[in-house]
Amino acid sequence: MNSTKNDPFSLFINFVTRDAAWRDAQKELEAQERHLALLYEEERDKHAALTAFKESVQALFKIMHNYELEAKVMRERMAEARRKLEFVESPREYTALHKELDELAVREKTTEELLFTTWQEHEVRQGQYADHVKGHELWLKDYEQRIQDAQRIQKNLTQKVTSLEQERAEFEKSVPADFLDTYYDMKRSVVDPVVPVINNYCSSCRCLVAQQDLAVMRRHVLVKCKECYRVLYVCQ
Ligand SMILES: [Zn+2]
Repeated sequence: MNSTKNDPFSLFINFVTRDAAWRDAQKELEAQERHLALLYEEERDKHAALTAFKESVQALFKIMHNYELEAKVMRERMAEARRKLEFVESPREYTALHKELDELAVREKTTEELLFTTWQEHEVRQGQYADHVKGHELWLKDYEQRIQDAQRIQKNLTQKVTSLEQERAEFEKSVPADFLDTYYDMKRSVVDPVVPVINNYCSSCRCLVAQQDLAVMRRHVLVKCKECYRVLYVCQ
């Protein structure tokens, strides 16, 4: 667009192109913000998964510790029963103590077995957790780079949007009110009511523009596309 021209139509088109650039930059910024939100979500998920894994290993350790305590109590009760055996005074007492000892031995054996399997499971899970931590550290390194890049892009886009908004506002001041009214009125139905003709085609709907319409446009008269009804202009 030749920006040295100061006729109303040229001023209008200058404004429209800035308005479109501002809108495109806003869309780009929104997409970047969505991308960043996904990255933050990824971090939350990864962190939660690692914490859950750690807690499952800790829970297993607690179970193991409880079995250990249980087995210790059994052994103490068995020692106590054996001590009592030395001082039995009746066959009935002797039988009862032996029965108790047998029961305690079975329970202690079961507890020891459970302790052993839990210990094995804990060992495996602990190893898996160590791998998980290593994997997480690698992921974090890559993630930090990605987040830095994404934040830098977001910052640049924010600056771009701000400067385009100021530029657009500056250009808007020079546009005649009736042009602006038409433009904002049309903007209520489409986001881009004024589009350039590129290689004789409407750049929005790809409809071929008639030669006589192109000639009229070159005289800076508002012409609408026959297909999509957008206002057309020719890039010069
Ligand atoms: Zn069109």
